[in-house]
Amino acid sequence: MNAFTRLWLKIRKKMSAPKLLCDTCLNDYHTACTNPARPNATECPDYEKR
Ligand code: SF4
Repeated sequence: MNAFTRLWLKIRKKMSAPKLLCDTCLNDYHTACTNPARPNATECPDYEKR
C-alpha cells in the first residue's frame, strides 16, 4: 500500500465513509475474487475476514 492510498483511507475514515471490505478480505488476491466491486467493495456477500 503506497502513501497516497494510506492517506486516502485515512481521509475516508475521518469522513465516516463506509469501510472498504476488500482491504481485510481473505479473497483479495489475484483471481480469487472476480467481483467487479473489488478493491472498493463496501458491501459483499463473499467477504471473509483475513
Ligand atoms: S470477496 Fe468481496 S470483499 Fe472480498 S475481495 Fe472480493 S469484492 Fe472484496
